[in-house]
Amino acid sequence: MAWFKKKETPSREQKAEDALWSKCNACQEIIYKKELERNLSVCPKCSYHFPIRAQERLAIVADEGSFTEFNQALAPVDPIFFRDVKKYSDRLNEAQQKTGLKDAFITGRCEIHKMPTMVGVFVFDFLGGSLGSVVGEKIVRMVEKAMDEKVGAIIFTSSGGARMQEGILSLMQMAKTSAALSLFRKERLPYISVLTDPTTGGVTASFGMLGDVILAEPGAMIGFTGPRVIKETIKADLPAGFQRAEYLLKHGMIDLIVERRKLKATLGKLLDLLYH
Ligand SMILES: [Zn+2]
Repeated sequence: MAWFKKKETPSREQKAEDALWSKCNACQEIIYKKELERNLSVCPKCSYHFPIRAQERLAIVADEGSFTEFNQALAPVDPIFFRDVKKYSDRLNEAQQKTGLKDAFITGRCEIHKMPTMVGVFVFDFLGGSLGSVVGEKIVRMVEKAMDEKVGAIIFTSSGGARMQEGILSLMQMAKTSAALSLFRKERLPYISVLTDPTTGGVTASFGMLGDVILAEPGAMIGFTGPRVIKETIKADLPAGFQRAEYLLKHGMIDLIVERRKLKATLGKLLDLLYH
């Protein structure tokens, strides 16, 4: 069975090839990775927006060298000693090692076209960008800091929803963040939500949909429950394009769909309008 095994392990040549080329998830085009990077991880053929890392997101929208991170040492605990096939504490360790981060959210201050703002970005690679106590706390701290400095706040979401391994504490983050944003609104400071692929569950159901302006990337999957569960519950077929950004825009759930290369300019324009 030696040849069988050989087939499963990619050869050195194959690995080198994979390092150079990517396949588009939408049109299946094979794209040179360098070209994809230059195009901000948007397919040059069909404009499919590949998911990007939080750090890349910040590099795209923040003025160069303007980002300062806050609360990066804030680390999660395992409050209910949760265990499914693995212990939650082991899952946390793995995710921390994989991403080099303590939890699924990066926050800080930056400038966008010279306008100061607080910014937060979800890290989908960290347990599916799930909303746990640390993510909630970092959002509240970011909003409070924005109030102190009288600047706006922008959150880029990509999340599978609440972090069930933290039980009720995870669900409480929806109320906690929504309460902070309602105080923020009273200060008449702008909060912009940018929904990226995928944004679901408790994140959509709280700060995701609470933006004064709600933007989304093209084709982003945005919803609360997954389509299969909805279909089984209502026992009816779902319309074409259901839960995609374009569908949400058509039905008045979001304000604007923005292509990645226009994202920084659009955020700059919005901050300028909302600050003055
Ligand atoms: Zn494509």
